[in-house]
Amino acid sequence: MSVKVRFAPSPTGRIHVGNIRTALTNFLYAKKQGGQFVLRIDDTDLERSTKAFEDGIKADLTWLGLEWDETFNQSARFASYDSAVEALKAKGLLYACYDSEDELERKRKIQRAQGKPPVYDRAALKLTEADKAKLEAEGRKPHWRFKLSGEPVTWTDLVRGETTIDTASLSDPILVREDGSYLYTLPSVVDDIESGITAIIRGEDHVTNSGAQIEIFRALGATEPKLGHHPLLVGPDGEKLSKRLGALSVQGLREEEGLEPMAILSLLAKIGTSDAVEPRADLDALAADFDLDKFSRAPARFDPEELKRVNARLLHETPYGAVSERLKAMDADAGEAFWNAVRPNLEKLSDAATLVRLVNGPVTPVIEDADYAATAASLLPEGELTGESWGQWTGAIKAETGRKGRDLFLPLRQALTGDNHGPEMDKLLPLMGRERVLRRLGG
Ligand code: GLU
Repeated sequence: MSVKVRFAPSPTGRIHVGNIRTALTNFLYAKKQGGQFVLRIDDTDLERSTKAFEDGIKADLTWLGLEWDETFNQSARFASYDSAVEALKAKGLLYACYDSEDELERKRKIQRAQGKPPVYDRAALKLTEADKAKLEAEGRKPHWRFKLSGEPVTWTDLVRGETTIDTASLSDPILVREDGSYLYTLPSVVDDIESGITAIIRGEDHVTNSGAQIEIFRALGATEPKLGHHPLLVGPDGEKLSKRLGALSVQGLREEEGLEPMAILSLLAKIGTSDAVEPRADLDALAADFDLDKFSRAPARFDPEELKRVNARLLHETPYGAVSERLKAMDADAGEAFWNAVRPNLEKLSDAATLVRLVNGPVTPVIEDADYAATAASLLPEGELTGESWGQWTGAIKAETGRKGRDLFLPLRQALTGDNHGPEMDKLLPLMGRERVLRRLGG
């Protein structure tokens, strides 16, 4: 059977690094095996889901290059969920409960006070038809719970290995609310069955869900797909990421931080695995050494500073052709030689817009010793400046003035760039050209 996986965000917000890691893991799992990657929009919560968030999530994934083979919305599939509800009712596995939220909370309080786990007591199973009719006559509406087996459920998790959830320790999950709306649990199973998903790969926060969902798969006459739960991301000091997620949304990383999609993906593909983090130019390269067996059981540390370093390293290796259009768009395209000269100095691509001014101006020359600048100008090699000119020029200045090291080089850099540091001068000199060099040395 060919591999088919899905990424299933709820369009109640934009996606952040944690979700991207889940999406990427699914994407690479499919790509490596020549399978399909489905984008499922989990919008059964009609109140909180918006089209704007859905569009935003799609734009984020597209920008990252995580293209999907197929997409659909859960909100278009209520008829299928309704049939599943009927099937479960017919098997006696979905039962009506009339407890109000307050009543449930009271029961949980008592259980906790007695040192018992706050598991639903299944009181509703004891209701007779007459009891139910009476409750309905009082205007109460039921919510519907799935009847768990009370047995341990075991699966071989693609990340965690053998995993067991004892369903006796869980409350029977509510699948349908009082107002008839669906919680996530059932629609997800129905969709995974009907779209032929072969593996569910998601965060460890869903392990307990999996215990219940496996029983629902079986109750609906299906075999559950493979399941893999990856540890969640934590911050550099092991703290929860949730507080800083705004800045760690795809939108923030793109628009505010100006980071490269492949830097983000290169980092997220490798943290929490046994592979080293290396900047990779494309998803094929990431897929080539992807393997869920390399995932650690410990939380993956996400460090925004490391992301910046990967971004810089990626840019240092990026060929001109891969960025020329974007350079043009930011008015920072001064040709391949310029790119090769400045890329080792970039942290973000937008830095190129600052560096292009070193070549094209305006530059405010910094000249502390006008005589030295004038001497240097008189010794500039004749003709067109080339890659060798800087060496010849500074050799001649050294011979003439006896200066060396910082005293020799820094005033030249300050006069030509207005700055104390920057890209290598031997590369910049030919890009500036004779006229500009002489003008800047003149102040
Ligand atoms: N919409 C669910 C979530 O975002 C999907 C979980 C799953 O992959 O099954 O948590």
